This record gives sequence, C-alpha cells and structure tokens, in this order.
Amino acid sequence: MPVIVRFAPSPTGLIHVGNVRTALMNWLYAQSHGGQFMLRLDDTDVERSTQAFADGIKKDLTWLGLVHDLSARQSDRFNNYEEAIETLKSAGRLYPCYETGDELDLKRKLQRTRGLPPVYDRAALVLSDSERAALEAEGRSPHWRFKLSGAPVRWQDLVRGEVTIETSNVSDPILIRQDGSFLYTLPSVVDDIDFSISHIIRGEDHVTNSAAQIEVFKALGAEPPQFGHHPLLTGAGGEALSKRLGSLSIESMREGGTEPMALNSFLAKMGTSDPIEPRQQLEDLISEFNLSKLNRAPAKFDPQDLRALNAKLLHELPFEAVADRLKDLGVGGGAAFWEVARTNIEQISDMREWWKIISGEFDPIIEDAAWAAKAADLLPSSDFDDQTWQSWTSAIKESTGVKGRHLFMPLRLALTGRSHGPEMAKMLPLIGRDKARARLLGSAA
Ligand code: GLU
Repeated sequence: MPVIVRFAPSPTGLIHVGNVRTALMNWLYAQSHGGQFMLRLDDTDVERSTQAFADGIKKDLTWLGLVHDLSARQSDRFNNYEEAIETLKSAGRLYPCYETGDELDLKRKLQRTRGLPPVYDRAALVLSDSERAALEAEGRSPHWRFKLSGAPVRWQDLVRGEVTIETSNVSDPILIRQDGSFLYTLPSVVDDIDFSISHIIRGEDHVTNSAAQIEVFKALGAEPPQFGHHPLLTGAGGEALSKRLGSLSIESMREGGTEPMALNSFLAKMGTSDPIEPRQQLEDLISEFNLSKLNRAPAKFDPQDLRALNAKLLHELPFEAVADRLKDLGVGGGAAFWEVARTNIEQISDMREWWKIISGEFDPIIEDAAWAAKAADLLPSSDFDDQTWQSWTSAIKESTGVKGRHLFMPLRLALTGRSHGPEMAKMLPLIGRDKARARLLGSAA
C-alpha cells in the first residue's frame, strides 16, 4: 500500500514548535518510505479559521523545506461529511442529544462525586419519539453523538506498541454541534478515507480519539490506517505548549534568526535515542529517521538548547551556503572572513557586528597611546598573511618587554574595539596594514 501521511493543523493561530515537530515526523516518514505528504487544513471552525493563518502555516512549512505533495481544506468538503453523516445515521450509529452544556457539566459533577468516570450516560439514546418531539417543541435543537461499540479497540501503534482502549470508558463523541457545525472527529476520518491516508502520525493527546475514530472508519466501511502517537513536546518545565505562546511560534523563530535546518535537526532528534546534532540537509535527517527511536517520555523544549544548536550549525556551514545572505546583510570579506568569524556567531545577522571590525565602523580603544604607536611602527611592511600576527607580536614583545595578556588585549582593543572576537591571526590580514596602523594611532579609518 502506498504511504500517504498528512499534517492537519487548524488555521486558528500561528503554529509552534510542537505542531511542526508532528509535521516533520510525517514528512520524514513519507520521505523515508517513498510516500507522499499531505497538508490538510482542518478549518471546520469557520469562525476562528483565517486565510492569514493558513498562509502563515504554508510559509512556515516552506521555510523549513517540508514541501507537501497533496493538499486539502476541510471547508471545501462539507458535502462529503454530510454524506458520511447519512451513512452513520442509517446504520444507527449517530443519535441526537438534547442536553445543554450546563446539564452535561452537572451530570459530570454528579458522576465525580459518586466516584464514577465522567462518561456520557447515553440518556438521549433511550428517548422515545414523543420525548424528542417535546424537547424540540421546547426550542431545543440536537447535537449528535456517535455510538461507540462498548468493546475494546486494539491497534499496533507505530510508537507505543500494542494499545487497547476500552470504549466502555469513553463518552460517545459528539460529531455535530447543536448549531450543525462539525467537530473535527468525523471530517478527519472522512478525509483520511477519501485521500487514502495510510498512516496517521500525531501526538499522544489523540490516543483516545483514535479509538473512537477507528470505530468511525469501520462504521463507514473503511479499513483504518495505521496509527503512531508520539509523546508530546512540553515546555522546559514540563508544561503543555500553547498556541498563545508566541515566542514558540515558527514565525518568531524565523524572525529571531533560527536557521531552518537547526530547527529541523533539533525537532527530529529531541526525544529520540540519537544525539542532538546539527544536520545541514533534510536528506540526512531522512536517512536517520525512525519512529522506533522515539522515547516514550515527553520531550522538553528548551529555547536555549535550540540557540546552542543554531550556533553549532552555523559554525559548520560552508561559505557557499550563506554567501547570498551575507551579501544581503552587507557583509563582505568572502569565504576568508566567514571562516574566521562564523565560530563567534549565534545567528547569521551577528556577522554584521563582526564585519564592522573590518569596515571600521567603531572606535579603537587605546589605553597607552605611546605603546600603541610603537606597535604601529613595528607593523611589517610586507603583505600580511596568517603568520604576520605571530611575527609582529613577537617583535613588539622584544621591543617593549610587554607579553601575554598585556600584549594581546591592548592590540585586540585597538584593532577591533572589543575585548573578544575572532582569532586575531586570521583577522589581521583582513584588516590590512593601513587600517591596522590607523587604528593603533587612534583613528577608526
Ligand atoms: N486538527 C487536528 C489537530 O490539530 C489534527 C489531528 C490529527 O492529526 O488528526 O489536533
């Protein structure tokens, strides 16, 4: 059977690292099985779904390189869901219920005080026609529940192994709200059937849902796909990630200088038995991907760790991979400068700061002008190369008796305007003789 997987976000907000981790797992699964990846927009909630959020999701996925082969949007498919509704009704698996939200709350409270699980009691299932008519005459319109079998549902989960859910402990899920709108449960199954989805890979918050959905698949005469429920991503303190946490949105990460492959590498590796290391290509992640590497515990997302991985990735990137972006940032110096400065950056825009050292937009710091002038006089007149720093500083040491930190720090402060930064032996040839001399004599030129 061909592998077709889907990522199914609701366009009701910005997607965050947790959502994208699910997308990435699906994408990697598709790629590693020669399959296809579908982007499905779960926009049955027409009030809260917006085109802007849908566009944002596409932009985020494109930025990460998680290109989709197929796409669908639930709001285009209401007719298909209506058909499925009719099938379920005629099979006696969908029944109207008239309780208000408050009445259901009260039922649950009473069940809890009696130590019972808060499972819907199916009171509506035994209503007679005349009782239903009376409720409708009161002005109530029904919501509709799917009648679970009450039998255990079992599946071999790609992540969790054998799973059994006793549907007798689960409330019959509401498929249609009182206002006639669909909840996610049914449209998702109808789409999964119609688009021949072979594997559903999603967070473990959906495990109970899956049991109900497996019964819906069967009630619609379809074979359920395979399921894999991955442990969720939590905040550093173990808290659930929320769409409201803007700092974890992919948009803010992109704008904050996160490299797409740093995020991909991080999300592909965290919570697995593999070490978290940067990969420069998605292809590398495909070959290393396997759902069986996932740990069963939730993975904790710490933005600090991502920043560190981002830096590590940049430190290894070849010049060709960043040449255009450096140009856009106004950073020159070619491969030579990139290779000297890259180990000092956490994000690519940091290169601008270091480029100022070459371009001269800073004030040299000179503590001992006479000593600095002497150092300027000792600058070799020959072309500068990797050895120049070594021979020049030896000459200064010999001539002035100053050595170690007292020698190197004043030179660094004069030549770069700061106390730390890229290796001076490599920077000096890029700064060049004229600029070095001018700076030692106190001018930024
Ligand atoms: N829209 C659902 C969600 O975001 C999709 C879950 C699924 O993958 O079936 O939770």
